[in-house]
Amino acid sequence: MSNQDRRIAFLQEMGLGPVWSQRTAVLQTLEPEAAAPEEVTEFIEDSVAVATPLRVAEQSASAWGDDDVAITPAAVPAAPTALVQPATNIGSMNWDQLKAVVSSCTECGLCKGRTQTVFGVGDQKAKWLFVGEGPGRNEDFQGEPFVGPAGKLLDNMFVAMGLKRGENTYIANIVKCRPTDENKRDRAPVAAESDACLPYLQRQIELINPTVIVALGKTAALSLLKLDPATPVARLRGTVHRYADIPVVVTYHPAYLLRTLKDKSKAWADLCLAMQTYADKANG
Ligand code: SF4
Repeated sequence: MSNQDRRIAFLQEMGLGPVWSQRTAVLQTLEPEAAAPEEVTEFIEDSVAVATPLRVAEQSASAWGDDDVAITPAAVPAAPTALVQPATNIGSMNWDQLKAVVSSCTECGLCKGRTQTVFGVGDQKAKWLFVGEGPGRNEDFQGEPFVGPAGKLLDNMFVAMGLKRGENTYIANIVKCRPTDENKRDRAPVAAESDACLPYLQRQIELINPTVIVALGKTAALSLLKLDPATPVARLRGTVHRYADIPVVVTYHPAYLLRTLKDKSKAWADLCLAMQTYADKANG
């Protein structure tokens, strides 16, 4: 079975309809000014409009059709370059020390509801880092980020990008403990929880030193980039942000994509931007 057949099989098994297909070798020769997604991708779904051309750091949000406010690099504040360390010398810890501290952390109230901390998973020298907002119910039980249906979709996104969980990829979250509401349902972390936990992710990023970071969803992007909480996700997409000089590309959270299939074409455009950014950095 070819890789293409495998991708189709994965997505069909999940009943997700559109299939992402990357034409080989295109990204190596892609000219940002001239590149059109239809030259990079094919979707086996005629009803889904293909996104407009990618232009690193110049893409207007209005081009995505979901926000009429243009993105400009000036609208994106510089990301933090220094670690914020609440209680311990997190910035000098190695992987084992960091994992041990996280596993017993009580820096915020999320420690009270967790089954276990969800530290992160993958290649500790990965070139690709994917960051979500926090563990959900399945992740809390299993101790691994992005398991369950959203995790399967993320794995399929990896396949479409020519990547694989655990190989040259690392997956982490902004918060390491599961946030829940009063009814024990998953929720996004609040700012105080994200701020308390962010030093752990910052140290993970330092240790990994990835080539590109992909922020999965608004909460992850806003926390990582220290942006105004009111910033809509449509303004975050389509441009290359920076975290301590590491390119950051923002796309939708896989759980959102499971509920909103029509936005999968936009997510694919985001991943193409990430791949183009990776190729540019690797070649430059
Ligand atoms: S979410 Fe982070 S800061 Fe809060 S208790 Fe868990 S590990 Fe500690």
